[in-house]
Amino acid sequence: MIDRRTLLGALGAATLSGVVLSAATASASPKPAAGGVVDVHSHMVPDFYLREALASGIVFPDGMPKWPSWSVTEHLQMMDRCGIDSAILSVSSPGVHFGDDGKAADLARRVNDFGAGVAQGQPRLGFFASLPLPNVVDSTVEAIRALDRLGADGVTVMSNAGGMYLGNAVLTPLLTALDARSAVVFVHPTSPPNAAAVALGRPAPMVEFLFDTARTVIDLILLGVVDRFPHIRWVFTHGGGVLPLLADRVDFFRTQVGLGTPSTPNVLQRLWFDLAGTPVPRQLPALLSTVGPDRLVYGSDFCFTPIGAVQEQLRSLDAGAADGGLENWRAVTSGNARSLLGV
Ligand SMILES: [Zn+2]
Repeated sequence: MIDRRTLLGALGAATLSGVVLSAATASASPKPAAGGVVDVHSHMVPDFYLREALASGIVFPDGMPKWPSWSVTEHLQMMDRCGIDSAILSVSSPGVHFGDDGKAADLARRVNDFGAGVAQGQPRLGFFASLPLPNVVDSTVEAIRALDRLGADGVTVMSNAGGMYLGNAVLTPLLTALDARSAVVFVHPTSPPNAAAVALGRPAPMVEFLFDTARTVIDLILLGVVDRFPHIRWVFTHGGGVLPLLADRVDFFRTQVGLGTPSTPNVLQRLWFDLAGTPVPRQLPALLSTVGPDRLVYGSDFCFTPIGAVQEQLRSLDAGAADGGLENWRAVTSGNARSLLGV
């Protein structure tokens, strides 16, 4: 952990070496001239985790045709080829709770012990700890263990856990523990509880993930949770999904129905958003107009996004981020990520 933070703190030098390695190992990689980046949205799929998911009947995660393959070696190769200096690993949707509280708590511990081991052995990697929600007691215990003893860079939760969204009052003990530690909470989208009815047979990540992120952010804002736990550093993915387009409408209804919570645009500017997915050309300008550039971070979404697609998305950011309003996106997002992670 200390080594990685030292590396992040000396990003200029690390970037330079990453650029050389990137250019030498992958002729098809994006142009590296602007330097390497920090990737806060990057997934691990340990073998034992995959076995547990398959044994629980999750063969097509969120309607996708298959699970991706993953190893630490593959991940580091991807980073080298894409000019990514540092990455924070996390378990993606559907998380660690496959229907049984006891098994979920055990799987969370195993995943987090694994993540801690990887981060200890690889100074370029950190991890967000998984929590066995919707069991709040087990999740609170595991969050404290991961943050205080394992050196996790934060925790990851799904946008909903079995239909429980993040504004739910039963989460208060967990959020109190996270707030006391000024924790980073990386909110990954997952299928909504009625996915089979609304996804119309299509993979949930295509559309439903973007709506579920917006749904849980709006729940947090309208129930005043962001204000009650002001030290939590919330990170949302894929540019906040459809949120930027809904912010004004949500605020209109907030005033119409007389909710006493702070204005939606003001709260949004205290949250963090990654640029995973397809932020250019249309999504980034809307996001920037809503939250500005200071809390935007980069996310590859590897290994659920294969390396070829990661490279294509990097090329699209290089080609289109400035036109979308974000100059020097590599330097800006890397600096923001260092600020977010406190390194
Ligand atoms: Zn992801």
